[in-house]
Amino acid sequence: MQPLPFLPRRLAAFVFASLAFGAVDASAAQVSRLTPPSELFASGEESPVIARFLPGQLFDMQATVQPDAGSTITNFAFFYDNSPISAANSGGAARTSVVTETDASCVGEDGRTTGASGCKLVAGLPGNTAVLSLRAASRSTPGVHTFKVVAQQTNGPLITATGNFEIVGVDRNGALAKNIIIFLGDGMGAAHRTAGRIMAKGYAQGKAKGRLAMDTFPYGGMVMTASLNSIVTDSAPGMQNYVTGNKANNNQEGVFPDDTLDAFDNPRVEYLSEYLHNLQGKALGVVTTADVFDATPAANAVHTSARGNGTGIVDQFLDDRDLTGLTVLMGGGRKWFLPNPSDSVSPQPPNGSQRRKANDYVLPDDVIAGWGAAPGALDPERDLIGDFEQAGFAYAPDRTALDAAFAGRVPGKLLGLFAYSNMNVAYDKINGRRGDATVVDAFGFPDQPMLDEMTDKALKVLAKNPNGFVAMIEGASIDKQAHLMDSDRWVLEVMEFDRAISVAKAFAEDHPDTLVIVTADHECSGAALIGASNLTASALEGAPDSGKDSVGTYDAAKFPKYTIADDGYPETTLIDHKLVIGYGANADRYETWVSSAFPTKDTQQPFPPSESPADANVRNEGVGYFVSGQVAGDQAVHTATDIPLSAMGRGSTLFHGVFDNTDVFFKLGQAAVGGVD
Ligand SMILES: [Zn+2]
Repeated sequence: MQPLPFLPRRLAAFVFASLAFGAVDASAAQVSRLTPPSELFASGEESPVIARFLPGQLFDMQATVQPDAGSTITNFAFFYDNSPISAANSGGAARTSVVTETDASCVGEDGRTTGASGCKLVAGLPGNTAVLSLRAASRSTPGVHTFKVVAQQTNGPLITATGNFEIVGVDRNGALAKNIIIFLGDGMGAAHRTAGRIMAKGYAQGKAKGRLAMDTFPYGGMVMTASLNSIVTDSAPGMQNYVTGNKANNNQEGVFPDDTLDAFDNPRVEYLSEYLHNLQGKALGVVTTADVFDATPAANAVHTSARGNGTGIVDQFLDDRDLTGLTVLMGGGRKWFLPNPSDSVSPQPPNGSQRRKANDYVLPDDVIAGWGAAPGALDPERDLIGDFEQAGFAYAPDRTALDAAFAGRVPGKLLGLFAYSNMNVAYDKINGRRGDATVVDAFGFPDQPMLDEMTDKALKVLAKNPNGFVAMIEGASIDKQAHLMDSDRWVLEVMEFDRAISVAKAFAEDHPDTLVIVTADHECSGAALIGASNLTASALEGAPDSGKDSVGTYDAAKFPKYTIADDGYPETTLIDHKLVIGYGANADRYETWVSSAFPTKDTQQPFPPSESPADANVRNEGVGYFVSGQVAGDQAVHTATDIPLSAMGRGSTLFHGVFDNTDVFFKLGQAAVGGVD
């Protein structure tokens, strides 16, 4: 019998007795959560519905253990296929932790945790509950493996629970995809893609007169998008499920759920970026039209259970660049990078900063030891742009500076922050370039790049890495404008996104060892292309209350004909017999079928322009006709519908049929590590 390096002899004896003589009756005590999640633990079913990892991919193990009344947990160990996980194969005591409520004020009169601010555990657990962690485990043998936690308590029997997970093998038999480019059209369902094609290309004789770039990709399928805790995902797990191979709860990025209140201590799972940076030295590029702290960009590099913790999220982008290979970061979100020594945003600091201690991060010791992660600090006064520049990143605050950064050379690393929060949408950026800068001026950022321009620059920087790269490029406001039911604005977002895809398609044609996929995290709004207006542009504009009377269906819809200007966008979206779009997952709204001059107010902007209508569901009140919604609030919501995925380049043949969003991770892993014939 091998000695256990970090188990006291007494526990070791108990553990081997329990293994030899079967399960011990743990009386009232129980393990209430076991991570990684599995149906074996949740329901006893040995079904294959379990966490999955690539060989060597890091993940944390964790158990929430409720001892018998009056007892506390004194020691624990995790086992893998009945072998204790030792210091040699998965880190020693420095990689383990026990989190309990040590402060009596965190336990109520009923003996349950209160979950109050400053406490450690969520509300409602027995006061003696312990959360036991073992950080940064990994396995390399393909197949389904069981794992087990064994916890010792002061009085009473050992407490144990068993789960399982799978290591998905990689066949090493083909040419490798050196570069992986993931286009994530946030909220982009089939209807959004079709609307973009109708507007950009037009139809004649019942056929599309042209294809979107994403339509030309030779392979693809349909993706199931559920998160760990809902059929309807938000953008955090919607993205991270693609690049970790595992399901997270809504709001969570690069982690599994837990029972502690700390948003940065959850059990981690290694990202594609981290895995391929460690294994192959790949670089990471993250490009978005959103605020860079937003769920989709963060869910490629940042580990947190709270997608809203902006200060910690942007700090971690830089602090853990040696883990992720972060080389390009572009989008909006400057408000998180500017120093805020006052740690207050009321009143809003004049520099636009929204850095706060309250949403910053500090990691526990076992995460730092296990993952080699930076410790973090509560530092709202941090000049994060300065720190990026110190780390060798060229910084571009606008399109002119972005172009200048490439004059005569290609920078080695690139940071672009083109707005305080989310960038302006294509509809308003294009109007600005055409001479009507009313909206972009009102937001204070008249000189913002388009997504295709950002993509071109990002790929130039990333292509300098001889080991290849992972790039995630997001069309973020397809979703944001669909939430707001601003139809013309989100259709132009699809067009902007597709122009960026054209740039990557050309890159992949020049670099055949590149895999490009185009997908979405989920559908947003239940968008439906109902038909087209049966009114001319001027008649429609003159009849904002026309409502149902102006909606042409079937034969009456015919084919809306938009005229595309030299800049690639419609000369106007207010054409005769324009496309009419409805929403199946909408809040109440007032509809005129005509775009508003100003976008609906974006509450994430530190200085939102006063001209913006505050809420989507009052936007046209008084001029539009009332459409009763199915959901509360003022926005349309995400839906559970499968979404289309398109693929081209090296490894694209792996993408066909109907698959889960987590399956995409293993296809990407196969293409990058094992290769494809
Ligand atoms: Zn959304």
